[in-house]
Amino acid sequence: MFIRHEDNKAIAGSSNTSATAAPSSPASSSNQHPSRAMQEGSHRYSEPRPTTMWSMMSDLSLCNTSRDETFAMELPPPTPTVTVPTRDSQFWLYDGSIILHVENTLFRVHQTILANHSDVFKDLFMIPQPDGEDMMEGCHVVHLHDKVDDFTDLLRAVYVPDHFDAVTHDSTLESILSFIGGILRLSTKYMIRYLRQRCISLLLAKLPNTFLGYEAKSLSPHERFRSDTLMRAINLAKDNDVLEVLPYAYYCLSRFPHKRFLKDRPGDISWRDKMIVLIGRERLQWAQMSLSHKFLLVFQRAPTCQSPLCAHTRSPHAEWHEIEKGGAHPLKAYEGWNGLNICSACVEYSQVRHLEGRKEVWRLMPTWFELPSWEDLKTIQNS
Ligand SMILES: [Zn+2]
Repeated sequence: MFIRHEDNKAIAGSSNTSATAAPSSPASSSNQHPSRAMQEGSHRYSEPRPTTMWSMMSDLSLCNTSRDETFAMELPPPTPTVTVPTRDSQFWLYDGSIILHVENTLFRVHQTILANHSDVFKDLFMIPQPDGEDMMEGCHVVHLHDKVDDFTDLLRAVYVPDHFDAVTHDSTLESILSFIGGILRLSTKYMIRYLRQRCISLLLAKLPNTFLGYEAKSLSPHERFRSDTLMRAINLAKDNDVLEVLPYAYYCLSRFPHKRFLKDRPGDISWRDKMIVLIGRERLQWAQMSLSHKFLLVFQRAPTCQSPLCAHTRSPHAEWHEIEKGGAHPLKAYEGWNGLNICSACVEYSQVRHLEGRKEVWRLMPTWFELPSWEDLKTIQNS
């Protein structure tokens, strides 16, 4: 809304107007699809001059006449709700060519650098600027509906060469989520593919998408994920189409007690997703019995076995009942071979059956949690 010095009502209305030039969009729309972002950007420039801090400050100066002072004396004092945008301490670059207004912060950066990283920015900056559009220090001001913390992280990832050195594949999942969250959201929104891939790579180091990746991870120092952290990872992955991390994240979550899923903590996955995890747990129990650990439940001697001990052993079956008590964990490699009281040929034969069963559990894992195949997850993620 413009403030006109001859319009008493407009001036009165301005007293309650927050000068936050670009109201924050709802959280649900902050990470909208790039095409929508473009439409919104395009729409913004086709509108009449929007209400911004700069237009408002300019128009307020016009009120400095004796006639308006008379009006001002008749009006109640303005409510001090004006919030002046602040310049970001790190990204107000003296030779920047564009000013980006995010929430209540101004970033002065380079159009060419952002355009080289992102076709979305490139297209946004190519839209002709109408006369009278927001300008500051010779730069156009563009309003973006993002979260300022996310945008700061994105600029660091773009401008600071060693920014990603702060995390490695050995960092905890919690710290990785905090580090990549904003970068992943905005690299997805603005289609900055190499940054998105770096974020995905870090996630996949914790939540692997291959059986070999799972095996390598299980050999490294064990990191025990918290249920809150896993749910945070699932929500981030779903919001940004990083679908390959979902099967194993669901798998890890399925090993938590039932009562955890009755809680409703901030950041939890949806009730439907919780139901999917619990249904998946039932399926994993079947998979453990029928695939990965079937060699215990239904012991089969090796074709080359000559041992009468193996012919009558009950140890594998007893071992199955012990494992069954521990809950479904069909991917876990069995280690109690020495206690099975079977010959070496049968151990070797059973180890092959066990490994093949575990690989089959992995191959089918997306289906346990109502997801498409691994191949389809990858295709959707990289499309
Ligand atoms: Zn044997």
